[in-house]
Amino acid sequence: MLGRLARRLRMLGYDILYQRDIDDGSLLRLAMREDRIILTRDTRLTMRKAAIGRTFLISSEDPAKQAKEIMQAFPAPSGVPVRCTICNGALKPVEDRQSVLGQVPEHVFHCASGFFKCSGCGHIYWEGSHMEHFKEELLPGEEEEG
Ligand SMILES: [Zn+2]
Repeated sequence: MLGRLARRLRMLGYDILYQRDIDDGSLLRLAMREDRIILTRDTRLTMRKAAIGRTFLISSEDPAKQAKEIMQAFPAPSGVPVRCTICNGALKPVEDRQSVLGQVPEHVFHCASGFFKCSGCGHIYWEGSHMEHFKEELLPGEEEEG
């Protein structure tokens, strides 16, 4: 349910794990072990004793407003590369732009000023296209997907 919020926050550099189908107990243990805060819309979860100080209750239903709530509560990380929206891996600048030839659309290869590669899944991102676009789009909200 919060998958789209997770993707938005990763683009802003937050280190986000997104777990579907995990029970409350396992979730709390994971949060404890990795020193994470659980972002949830589940009031039942936040009421649990073990959840005190470990959960942040999201009140909005709109992903853009949810992202705002998080950004107010937890200031966005600065000076770190943004994270992969697919796997949460850190993005590393690509030194040799020839290496992305064939992995991005041709017009992008010629126009983009720089590329980033996910250290996890290898997905290529680039400057000046969807990363900037995404940041602009973040606050006004976005079209619902099918
Ligand atoms: Zn990745």
